[in-house]
This record gives sequence, C-alpha cells and structure tokens, in this order.
Amino acid sequence: MNKIYLYNSLTRDKEEFVPLKNDFIGLYTCGPTVYNFAHIGNLRTYIFEDILKRVLRYNGWVVKHVMNITDVGHLTGDRDMGEDKMEKGARREGKSAWEIAEDYTRAFQKDIANLNILDPDIWCKATDTIPEQIALIRKLEDKGFTYEISDGIYFDTARVPNYAKLSHQNLDALQEGARVEKNPEKKNTTDFALWKFSPRGVQRQMEWDSPWGIGFPGWHIECSAMSAMYLPGHLDIHCGGVDHIDVHHTNEIAQSEAATGEKFFNFWMHGAFLNIQGGKKMAKSAQNFLTLDTTFIEQGIDPLVYRFAAFLTHYRKPMEYSDKAVEAARNGLQHLHNQVRQIMDLAGSPGNVDRSFKEKFLNTVNDDLNMPRAMAVVQEVLKSDLEPAAKLATVLDFDQVLGLDLDRVNQADVLPEEVRKRVEARQKARADKKWALSDQIRDELQALGYVVQDGKDGMKVFKQ
Ligand code: AMP
Ligand code: ZN
Repeated sequence: MNKIYLYNSLTRDKEEFVPLKNDFIGLYTCGPTVYNFAHIGNLRTYIFEDILKRVLRYNGWVVKHVMNITDVGHLTGDRDMGEDKMEKGARREGKSAWEIAEDYTRAFQKDIANLNILDPDIWCKATDTIPEQIALIRKLEDKGFTYEISDGIYFDTARVPNYAKLSHQNLDALQEGARVEKNPEKKNTTDFALWKFSPRGVQRQMEWDSPWGIGFPGWHIECSAMSAMYLPGHLDIHCGGVDHIDVHHTNEIAQSEAATGEKFFNFWMHGAFLNIQGGKKMAKSAQNFLTLDTTFIEQGIDPLVYRFAAFLTHYRKPMEYSDKAVEAARNGLQHLHNQVRQIMDLAGSPGNVDRSFKEKFLNTVNDDLNMPRAMAVVQEVLKSDLEPAAKLATVLDFDQVLGLDLDRVNQADVLPEEVRKRVEARQKARADKKWALSDQIRDELQALGYVVQDGKDGMKVFKQ
C-alpha cells in the first residue's frame, strides 16, 4: 500500500496517516446547521472532505463516514451567547424549527448530490440523540467537570490540561480580550454550555426534559456523543472548516477526553475558507452568501464546475470566488469533458490503466490531497502518447477520486437540470413532429451554451 500524508491540525504537521485499527477508518465530518441554505463556502469544505474520503478509499481502505446535522443548540453569538439559529430561522420564515430543519436538510442533500459528493454512511441529527448527549453530560458531571449557572450547565475548561492543544491559542490573552462579551457568571471565558435551560416563562419549540431541567443541548456535545456512538474504537479523522478550530473542535476534544480519559480523534483536518472578492469570508450570518442553485444551476452552469474550481486551490489555502474564476473553471471542465469525449470516440471502450501514471496520481493525492497537482497529472495522461484505450481507462480510474462524471461525458444525464429538461422537451417535440418548437428549443439550448446534433442515433448534446 502507498503511504499517505495528511496535514494534522493537532500537530500542525504533515504526518503519515495510518488507521488506528486494521484497514478500517472512522471519519467524522461536522455537518451543516440547517437554518438556511448551505452557501458555496460551506460546500467547499464538503468537497474537500469528499476528496479525502475518496482518496482513502482509492488507497484500498474501508471508510465509515458519519456526518451530523445540527438542528438544535447552535447559537447566533460566540461562546453560547445569543439565540438558537434554528428558532431564529423559523421566525424568519414563519415555519416551525422542525420544518425548517427538514427543508434545509433536504436542500443540503440535494446540493451535495449535485456536486457528486458521496453521501455519508451515517447521517445523524442532534435532535435524534438527546439521551446520548444527556448521558455524556452526566458522565462529565460525575467526574466533576461541570458547574451550574443561571442559564445552564457549563464545562469548566480550567479543569483540563492543555485545553488549547488544537487551537494553540494564548488563553491568558483570550481571557483578557474577551472580558466584555463574557457571560459574567462563567468561571472562564472559554467555558462552554453543555445544557442550556429554556428561558423562564418561554416555551421553546425544541426542548427536552433533563436531570437539570427543561432545556436543550449546547452545540458541541452532539458531535462528541455521535462520534463515540457511531465510531467506537475508530476515531481516526475529524474534519470541518478552519473556523471550527478555536471553539467547536477545541470544546469537543476537551469534553470527550475529560469523559473518557482517552485521546479523542487522531487526526484533525480543516478546510480553508472560500472568500468573496476582497478577502471577505462568505458567511450565512453576513447575508453575503451565494448558493449552488442561484450561482450555478439557475444560470445554466453545471454544478460540477464548482467542484472542478475547488480542485484548483489546495484545500488549506483560501479560495477567492469571482465570476472570472467561475468562467475559467467552466472552460476548464468543458475542455476536460471534450478531451475525454474525443478519446472515448477513438478508444470505444477502456483498456488497461497505466500503472506508472496511476502511481504518480496516487502519490500526488496522497500528498495531503494535492488536487491542483493531480489535475496536472490528468492533463499529462491526456496529452501523453498512451493508446486511447489506456488513456481512457486511466482517467476513468482517476475519476473515482475526481468525481467529475468522466464516464458520462456523452450522456445527457450529466447536463444541468435546466438543459436536461429542454433536451427532453425537444425530444418530445420532434417525436410529435412539432418542428418549429424543436427549433426554438434548439436556439434556447444554444443560448445556454449547448449545441445539438440530430443524427440517426437520435439527438446528441454537446457543450459549446
Ligand atoms: P455551518 O453550517 O455554519 O455549521 O458550517 C458548515 C461547514 O462549513 C463547517 O465545516 C464550516 O467550518 C464551513 N464553513 C463555513 N463558512 C465557510 C467558508 N466561507 N468557506 C469554507 N467553509 C466554510
Ligand atoms: Zn461538530
């Protein structure tokens, strides 16, 4: 087996990755807070995690992937201040918190399917695991890590050694700097809520009984409870965006290690931000967010263009979103699809995978998921003097990692929804001999950047 090196945020070093037990890897990725659509920044993180999973599988390992859905307890302010994002979202939309959780979970699942992000093996919702979260808090309580203040049960971060081992923050400076925004009842600025009480006299939409009173879990406890539940003994890799390092992941580590006395996850990996021009982070709360639907699908742009674009910047480097970058990625993916289509026409069917190119590709993706270089290897193959059948087999093999539908470049089902619908409508128009309508749809497809070719095998559609 080839060696794989991954950057571990815990050690701040690229390390050889070896599964904790056998050839089975437990992968936990923090999922969305479902109070709104995911923006393409969030989706960048899920693309990075998808590549990680695909690369691990490409190396021959079995990966069990767990992703949570945060549908309660994530508050609007930092450090457990503010309102529950779910209840706020529900008010904004005049629906219940349960309804918006369902709607946005479904929207998220559609987004990831459109990006060819493989589904996790286990989806788990915070609201489905309240008893397990309560049990974990009780364990922490029994071990003396908790204290109660007027709005909830808190974790005492001063009781754990090396609380900042992931974030490497200077805690003294943090205590000083955060004095103003600190809940005055908390013992330390970094202490965080394990269980929040429902405000007196207010009935929340999402609340549960607990040994401490009616309320809801703090945000971090769900991931500690669910990773232990679904990946016992296989706490190999835990991922999220870089913004999770300082608070969410740091707190997960503190409470999990306090409860078990054992090391929590072995590797922590974080994706850098997608920024909008000018280096500003794309954020749901800032209302500057772009969704996959509005910026790609509704514009007639194949959502895989965004997947392709994400490969051109290493996952640990900030990526800048701009129309120009989208246009470049659109041309790049179209070019790639055309190249593969041509060798497909020449080769007919795939031959044997070229071993030395496969080795090169594998070593590239195994070098901390170096996708920009991996895309260069794809071009090397396509421009090499290998036989078309070998070229085709080799790039299709790489597509297990890329997920760019290279095996389907000749098929209409890789087309964006808007284009696919028109193709179907034109097929029907032709079957009904409605030639004027057929021509009109052909022009519409042309305006969307697609040419149609009518032949004896039916209609073929190509990107211009
Ligand atoms: P949320 O739904 O806010 O809990 O975030 C879902 C995921 O997206 C988390 O892993 C975040 O760290 C990540 N994330 C948030 N904003 C961005 C951004 N601008 N670029 C990349 N990832 C992000
Ligand atoms: Zn999490």
